[in-house]
Amino acid sequence: MIVAQGLVEAPVLDALFKLTARPRPEDALRALREVDVQDAVLAAAQRMRHLAIEEDDARKERGQPLINYRRFYVGGVGIGVVLGRRYSTPYEWWVFAASNTKPSKKADKYCAEMRIIRAAKEVRCSCIGGIGVLGENQPDGRSGNLRKTLDPCGGCRDCMRHVGNRYLFRARTLIMTAQPLSQVRYVETLPKMMAAHGEKWP
Ligand SMILES: [Zn+2]
Repeated sequence: MIVAQGLVEAPVLDALFKLTARPRPEDALRALREVDVQDAVLAAAQRMRHLAIEEDDARKERGQPLINYRRFYVGGVGIGVVLGRRYSTPYEWWVFAASNTKPSKKADKYCAEMRIIRAAKEVRCSCIGGIGVLGENQPDGRSGNLRKTLDPCGGCRDCMRHVGNRYLFRARTLIMTAQPLSQVRYVETLPKMMAAHGEKWP
């Protein structure tokens, strides 16, 4: 069984299968170091971001409230493994792509990364090896640090560290960030990303 939301994730799964058809958590943790996987993840994150932009364009035209009132769109893709159903394949690849929403100033934001974490729990993912995040850069809302690309926000970092979620991650889980329509990507471990904001993992 391949757990996938749909067509957006398919090219990422293809790239992962080329890496190995019988993944272990170890493979999920190294996947985002492979350029082919990076390319596929960025393309999928870009696609999710565009789908959200298109959705809001259509809503605007119809005079409906936007799903993202600030029009600040972020696409994200999580890579991991779930327990396999057959003895021959103890683990199977898992990929989930998402985008962020914040319908109004008062409404809670729901980030792509938060959706990835929720989806991972739903399918009993045993290890998120990497998360790709694609969005326009801006200073971090909590630390105020402006890095070269947009990191998961303070709320998402809390969500990753949360006692009910941290089992999904490892100290070697990779975070890849990139700007929309840019080939330049940055890959670092989860603890390193958190340290850049003066925070500790876990
Ligand atoms: Zn966030």
